[in-house]
Amino acid sequence: MDLDKLQTTLEELGQPAYRFKQIKLAMYRDLKEGFDAIENIPMALRQDLDRLLPFNELILKTEQKSLDGSGKNLFFTCDDLAIESVLIKHGDGSRTVCVSTEAGCQIDCSFCATGHLGFKRVLTQFEIAEQVLSFARELKAKGEKVTNVVFMGMGEPFLNYDNVKQAILLLNDKDGFNLGQRRISVSTSGIVPGIERFTAEDWQVNLAISLHASSNVLRSRLMPINKTYPLEKLMPTLDAYVAKTNRKLMIEYLLLGELNDSSRNADALADLIHRYEEVLRLSVVNLIIYNPVNDSSGHPDRFKAPRPASLRAFEEVLTKREIAWTRRASFGGDISGACGQLAGEEVSKE
Ligand code: SF4
Repeated sequence: MDLDKLQTTLEELGQPAYRFKQIKLAMYRDLKEGFDAIENIPMALRQDLDRLLPFNELILKTEQKSLDGSGKNLFFTCDDLAIESVLIKHGDGSRTVCVSTEAGCQIDCSFCATGHLGFKRVLTQFEIAEQVLSFARELKAKGEKVTNVVFMGMGEPFLNYDNVKQAILLLNDKDGFNLGQRRISVSTSGIVPGIERFTAEDWQVNLAISLHASSNVLRSRLMPINKTYPLEKLMPTLDAYVAKTNRKLMIEYLLLGELNDSSRNADALADLIHRYEEVLRLSVVNLIIYNPVNDSSGHPDRFKAPRPASLRAFEEVLTKREIAWTRRASFGGDISGACGQLAGEEVSKE
């Protein structure tokens, strides 16, 4: 629901100010699914609101469930744009929702299905937050709840900074969804002005950087944004982020078979990190194994997953060079796993 429109509608209906808070709590704290379920407001008001305002900004089109309990939802916006979100279930009981911040993406990373879809528009704060609510309602029915939110789905969060910030505040709101800031992470492809703004925020939200390569030549090939913000601009900005916030930086590194997965690539990555004292002090390299994109998106896949031996060798180099690293566990392998893939399939079907 667009809470700004709700506020205006309630004013036009001559309702007392407390109604706004009641309805916001019903949606974000009690996870109600419609106006008719909000029992503490009069029936006549529920009916009026139902007539005047959509309760949800997003329409759930399909739900894919993985054998490991993870899931992927495809939504349509009110103007018919496809976006997707993912729920990742971890063995320790944590439940992470990965949200999209744009319909499509402007960055066009060469390995990404979303990049191939082109850019439609940025999402509003409410469209972003509702992706989380959708999974939260599903989990509530099983006595579980969303424990973490990552802004790593379709789109570049820092090219939609204001709405992303408002969505974070909405999810963090004590009188609402009440998710701790430390449980929220934003991942960027490397928009330097966005990182600078994020650094200046007075909050404890986590930052992740999609690095994927440690030379400008290869990174520009994989991520055209590197031509605008090359490593010599990006890395000092990340160094300044860690120095100011003293928060751990997550460095995402997507391993693409025979492209960036050799021991030499691992050494180059370690060299790069060692050049930036603060990044070296407080960062973790998160290794992600490439998940080949389904050809139904209309784009033949040029990339492949790394061989297990290359992966082991890469990890050994990082360990030897004293770089903190982790490997992202693979979730939902039996559903479309790559970012933008489900929406891509939907677009290609149509
Ligand atoms: S990886 Fe992220 S930033 Fe790059 S094209 Fe895909 S959605 Fe956009």
